[in-house]
Parts: sequence; C-alpha cells; structure tokens
Amino acid sequence: MDRVTYSYDAPVSQTLFDRAALVTPGGVNSPVRAFRAVGGTPRFMVSGAGPYLTDADGREYVDLVCSWGPMILGHAHPEVTAAVQAAVARGTSFGTPGEGEVALAEEIVDRIEPVEQVRLVSSGTEATMSAIRLARGFTGRARVIKFAGCYHGHVDALLAAAGSGVATLGLPDTPGVTGAQAGETIVLPYNDLDAVRAAFEADPEGIACVITEAAAGNMGVVPPAEGFNAGLRELCDRHGALLISDEVMTGFRASREGWYGIDRVRPDLMTFGKVMGGGFPAAAFGGRAEVMARLAPAGPVYQAGTLSGNPVATAAGLAQLRLLDVGAYARLDAVSRELREMVDAVLTKEGVAHRIQSAGTMFSVFFTDREVRNYDDARAQESFRFTAFFHAMLERGVYLPPSAFEAWFVSTAHDAAALERVADALPEAARAAARATAPTD
Ligand code: PLP
Repeated sequence: MDRVTYSYDAPVSQTLFDRAALVTPGGVNSPVRAFRAVGGTPRFMVSGAGPYLTDADGREYVDLVCSWGPMILGHAHPEVTAAVQAAVARGTSFGTPGEGEVALAEEIVDRIEPVEQVRLVSSGTEATMSAIRLARGFTGRARVIKFAGCYHGHVDALLAAAGSGVATLGLPDTPGVTGAQAGETIVLPYNDLDAVRAAFEADPEGIACVITEAAAGNMGVVPPAEGFNAGLRELCDRHGALLISDEVMTGFRASREGWYGIDRVRPDLMTFGKVMGGGFPAAAFGGRAEVMARLAPAGPVYQAGTLSGNPVATAAGLAQLRLLDVGAYARLDAVSRELREMVDAVLTKEGVAHRIQSAGTMFSVFFTDREVRNYDDARAQESFRFTAFFHAMLERGVYLPPSAFEAWFVSTAHDAAALERVADALPEAARAAARATAPTD
C-alpha cells in the first residue's frame, strides 16, 4: 500500500522513516513494523515507561503491543532496569559459561514441568529452528508437520503458510526458500486432527515431528479446540514422532506456566522467547532430557551461538521472571478481561460484527461474527474494519498491533488511568469500524 496521509500524521516519524527507507529495506528491521497492512507512517518510538510509549513527535500512547509480548511488566520496570544496569557494569559478553544463564535455565526448568533440560539461544526463530533439527536428529526422520497460520519465526522450512507478518502482508510463501527446504514440510489446517491422522497414515515412518503453537497467536488468537493438543500427543506417540510445542508467544504469558499451565499436554520439546528475555534477545528450547542429550557437546546434533546466554539478556530475563508471581498473573488476567469487555461493549453498541478470542491473558479481536478456528476463518474477517479501527485508536493515543492478524498484549503496568484512555478512544474507533467500507480494487 502506498503512503496514506492521515490528518494526525507524525512529521518527525515520517522524516525518520524516509531516512530509514534509504538504508534499510522498507525502512524497518521487521516487516510488520512498517504499517503496510494499515497504511500511514510507522511511529518511531523514543521511550517507554510503564504502559506508555512516546514517539519521536512527542505523542504518548497506551501500548497494547508491548514489543509483541516481551514487556509483560511494562516499559523500563525499575527492578528489571536495575538488574540490567548491574549486569552491564560487570561486562556485556564473555563467551564463557556464567552463573546468570544457569539461574535462568533453572527458573525455566522449575516452572515448566516437561522441560528437564534447556538450551538458551538469542531468538525464537533460533529456538524453533534448533528444535526441529534436534527432532530430526533424534528420530532420524525428515518430515515436519506444521499448521497453516502458525508462525514459528522465519525458519526456512517453517515459512510455508505462516501467520504473523506473512499473513499481514498476504504473502503466499516466500521466495528464497527452496523446494527442498519446504518439501519436507507438511502444512495442515489448524485444529484438524483428522488431517494430522491422515498425514501420519500416508507416511507412518517419515514424520520427525509435529510443531504447533501451544495456542495459536499469529493468525490472531485461536486457541486449540478441546482435545486438539492431546490428540497431537497421541498421534505422535503412536507413530514415533516428537511433539514440539512452540511457546515463544504464550510462554510465561498465557499463565505462569504458559499454555502448558492451562492445557497440560506434555510435549517432547518446547520453545520459548519474548517474556523470558525481559526485552533483550534471549530465547530457549528444552524438553525431555533424553532428547536434549542428543545436542552438542553432549550429543551429535550441532547447535551453537556467540551470544547465547548473554549475561545482560539473562539478567533481564531472570529479573522479569522472578517478578512474575501469582499476583502478577492475576493482574494480567484482570487487565485482559477488562479490555476485552470494553472492546466487546463498544463494538456491540455500534453493530460491528466481531469476535474476541483469548488464550489465557492473550487475546485478539476479529472483525467477523463467526468463530475463528483456523487460518481460513481468520482470513475471512473484514480486516478493512480493523484498519479504520486501528487508525482511530492511534489518533487517540492507543497503540495497537498494526495488523488484524496479531494478538494484543497487556502488562501488569496497565493501570486504571491507562485503561481509561483506552476506554475514551474506543467509541470513536468503533464508529470508524462501523463506517468502514471494503476496498473496491
Ligand atoms: N514462535 C512464535 C510462536 C512466535 O510468535 C514468534 C515471533 O513472533 C517466533 C516463534 C519467532 O521469534 P523471534 O521473532 O524471536 O525470532
């Protein structure tokens, strides 16, 4: 979409975006940030405090993106900031083992019962890529089942029918992924156990693993149907394949134990990121000790990283996780519920077809009146209404994910004042959504 000019355009952000576009493809370092799906000028943020972000034009927003999940305590939380400052003062990277990474691994193992051993990496993409390699190495098989609309990072083999930015930009698949890389990936509809059963029956000895988002959040929030994850477990067991539960988004967010705390299906491997890094590049994959033992240097499956277990990132992650106690999750639940109720009430009042779906404290709003169970359902929504809604909220100081296919994220810092600002912005945004018309081209 070409640049759209809105009455509240942000001149400083626009100047920065123009500069960025000269030196960076599309002006951004991750596609969804570019506002392509909704049009207008992406806001360049200069600071964050609690539930608020301030952009380069000096405008303040209630942040309902929270850096796409990590900032679960809000921005610049004093205790996380202090832990980071102390870590930085001790030196920023050693390339040796350190106590911080042991403590973070212990915290993860302690919280998430199926994780007996864990390896730290620097991004969710690395976590899922490594988990897939390990599953293939462990089983000696090549093929991987994934679900349409699930996003597992930009891993070559997993970009087929991916959600998140791939969905936002309407990309079918991506050039640069070879037939060989994608050819071992079987893409099936989410929440369709019959399809998984049929895929296993067609190739009973060839499937290394099933990877699924523990609760899908990258086509908007689509929780697994009752028994879906358990059914995957059973089929994997029956056919000697591993089950990989991707909790990069849900981990330490959907509940204290992530989605596993809500739906106790034991995967063989799990992946984490976002919240566990406290706003720094830290992620992890872990699971059954017998499987993890195949990883180098204990075993033959190679995996490594110069900055893996970085002392600053692990200090931030550990400080954040230690603050995420039962009370913090109760607060997140309350904030999430209040927001859902507010959005539901105004959209209902304006007669806008909508459906709010949640997975623990995560939720998203679909502009449709039908239940969304899979990627086809998600794509059938009236996303042009979201565009109007998004801009009306932005204009009134509420920063939503710039895509109808993303979860909304809250933090423990979203207090009554922040929620009141959202409440003030909502009625006009709902009217804008009601007035919106489908594009004709
Ligand atoms: N898996 C899931 C479920 C995600 O939501 C994401 C990112 O949004 C990833 C993996 C990739 O993580 P990263 O962006 O840190 O590479």
